[in-house]
Amino acid sequence: MSTNNDWEAVIGLEVHVQLATKAKIFSGASTQYGAEPNRQACAVDLGFPGVLPVLNREVVTMAIRLGLGINAQIAPRSIFARKNYFYPDLPKGYQITQFELPIVQQGHLPIVMDDGRELSIGITRAHLEEDAGKSLHEAFHQMTGIDLNRAGVPLLEIVSEPELRSSAEAVAYLKTLHALVCYLEICDGNLQEGSFRCDANVSVRKKGDPKLGTRTETKNVNSFRFVERAIDYEIARQIQVLESGGKIIQETRLYDAEKNETRSMRSKENANDYRYFPDPDLLPLEVSPEWIAEVAKDLPELPWQKRQRFEKEYALSAYDANVLSSQKTLGHYFEETVKASQASAKLCANWVMGDLLAALNKNNLALDNSPISAKSLGELLTQIANETISGKIAKTVFELMWTSKTSAKEIIDREGLVQNNDTGALEKIIDSILSDNPKQLAEYREGKDRLFGYFVGEVMKQTRGKANPNQVNTILKEKLSAE
Ligand code: ADP
Ligand code: MG
Repeated sequence: MSTNNDWEAVIGLEVHVQLATKAKIFSGASTQYGAEPNRQACAVDLGFPGVLPVLNREVVTMAIRLGLGINAQIAPRSIFARKNYFYPDLPKGYQITQFELPIVQQGHLPIVMDDGRELSIGITRAHLEEDAGKSLHEAFHQMTGIDLNRAGVPLLEIVSEPELRSSAEAVAYLKTLHALVCYLEICDGNLQEGSFRCDANVSVRKKGDPKLGTRTETKNVNSFRFVERAIDYEIARQIQVLESGGKIIQETRLYDAEKNETRSMRSKENANDYRYFPDPDLLPLEVSPEWIAEVAKDLPELPWQKRQRFEKEYALSAYDANVLSSQKTLGHYFEETVKASQASAKLCANWVMGDLLAALNKNNLALDNSPISAKSLGELLTQIANETISGKIAKTVFELMWTSKTSAKEIIDREGLVQNNDTGALEKIIDSILSDNPKQLAEYREGKDRLFGYFVGEVMKQTRGKANPNQVNTILKEKLSAE
């Protein structure tokens, strides 16, 4: 009997990134999300006869930024092609895309796993294309509405090599790519609005087999969590089919988040023949070295550069540095906290990634709308660092800061939360606790180490949490080991 351990998963991802331009790729119509249907579709987007597409220069600049970000080759000459198919949301009868000669070729995306393992994932290509319109099945009774606002919105399709080996690696790749396009400011990164969409190609093979297995392509996965689940489902399904003597058919599948399963949509046999050919309305796209150099000049610090800098400069773990560099604003908030505080960078990282993110999540707030600024958080953490309050009391102060928007210092003074660092007073309290608990004391001395926590708890109870935890530990240890 073979087991799942005999199999290896192979995954390649195709990501559609909506480029954050004001106008569409071949017309001047607005790309703003959420307008009334068909208010933002002009004659070019509607595919009227006689109109001509005009390439939006900004779209090309953004593709170059991505290409430079992943250390790829920018094609000096690339071609727009027509991909022919019939669908109601595609009035022209073809989509303009890049086929044989895409603008970006052969790049790499460095990713890091939670355990610190670093990988470099090959990116085969990234090509420019226009989006199609949308069919609205629910708006009208027994009819389908067509909204062409999205027709002609610029997309960059980024295609990875089949080099990912697990759903975890796929998610790490997606998160890093998402961070990259946001850092580069070429995409708003909004997953709910479909600005970053992923198709997952999955196959399995016996470990050690040099040949790739037959793959399926799962569409319609619009969150990182769903990508992970869809891939895991698909891997398990394929192994089961093969183990029971069946065969995988190359097909497109759809992920159903409610049932957490993938379903067949169409197989390769009835796939379209798109009859690609160069679009005669558009000249070949030529990108000069000067253009590339100009774009290269204002490339920002990239997510993995920030991650590596955070590891070095602040001595953070790969995991912490990765989380903090996953969003530009988060990295900025962290650095501002460190700057404003006398606490260690590690303590700042823990609070930003822990308490702050949890509170934002719970209240469904974006970092920009945090009621506690980086400076205020930094001041709170200083109070821990200089032993004015304990980490535990700091959690109470944090909550009060969150709701009252008052500074840490004011709250600590007002509520009388200053930590008691008076050793003499603490020794007296500990002495009385030990003499009040002779049974526990005897048990502890007979080897019941767990009771140490009991004594700490008693001290904290009596001091209403204001004893200095380090002092409590030291004094308790001393007194407990004394005969
Ligand atoms: P197509 O153009 O038909 O979609 P491509 O060869 O361009 O096919 O591949 C699309 C995606 O599928 C790429 O991300 C690639 O890495 C991935 N892929 C190709 N073969 C396999 C395979 N056997 N298993 C998993 N992924 C694959
Ligand atoms: Mg494809």
